Amino acid sequence: MLNLPTGVQVIERGWLSANMVIASGRHNTAVVDSGYCSHAEQTVNVVHGVLNDAPLDLLLNTHLHSDHCGGNFALQATYKNLKTLIPPGHAPYVTDWDPVVLTHTPTGQLCPRFHYQGLLIPGTEILLGDQPWQIHAATGHDPHSVILFEAKSRTLISADALWENGFGVVFPELEGQGAFAEVGETLSLIKQLDPITVIPGHGRLFAYSDQVLQRAQQRLAAFTESPTKHARHGAKVLLKFKLLEVQKQAYTEFKSWALTTSYFELVRSQFFGVANLSDWIDQMIIELIHSGVAKRDGETILNV
Ligand SMILES: [Zn+2]
Repeated sequence: MLNLPTGVQVIERGWLSANMVIASGRHNTAVVDSGYCSHAEQTVNVVHGVLNDAPLDLLLNTHLHSDHCGGNFALQATYKNLKTLIPPGHAPYVTDWDPVVLTHTPTGQLCPRFHYQGLLIPGTEILLGDQPWQIHAATGHDPHSVILFEAKSRTLISADALWENGFGVVFPELEGQGAFAEVGETLSLIKQLDPITVIPGHGRLFAYSDQVLQRAQQRLAAFTESPTKHARHGAKVLLKFKLLEVQKQAYTEFKSWALTTSYFELVRSQFFGVANLSDWIDQMIIELIHSGVAKRDGETILNV
């Protein structure tokens, strides 16, 4: 039986939207991560339902991937006195709104503009609901991500740094900037924190154990050994993410999205140099179909 701190609820969502944590207590009401923009209405409704018509005071983002901050604009429009807090690394690009640096444009994902009023500084604490949560830097998956730890119950909000089976794609690696070592450092930090309960960015809540950590470390070792394997995985994750968003699309339209989404050319040119972009994308889609997470029906591609 996994115990969460008093007043904390976890809303487990699909893979298109990151999980949402809602805290409510004597200090304030707070939400951690707001999902993908196509689920924004659902995000607002869920928060509204959990808070029972009380106002939302704080919105925090562990990092600024579109599946973690895509509902920010809708929550900000709903709760006029809401204070939004983000990790410091990308803050200037939120102020000026640069969807290229924020990776939304190069990954072909959508994220409506939002504003922020404060920063989540690693090494400090923040009160959410009834408890203080430690803010820790967690580079690797994203260079500016933070994770949150509540020391009394030893609950960790791990974002995409640790999942029950591994961790999220190591995006800087796809861009040619080594970050596997940072993933390892973040896993060591989590080992040191020694949580009891982990609230991951995606998937169900789980009990932390040596096996969970070892699984992530083994995955990291396999990727470090073969960065091409990781790059292939990363490209397929981006394709699958788009399929989750559109559910069903003409194959030509889906493929032309991939052809014009710069991350694919970036990954191809760095890891699969001899392949032609169009053939390589076809190949990645075939692999998704073979692994049973996509289906082709005549001229249509479908999410499975
Ligand atoms: Zn992420």
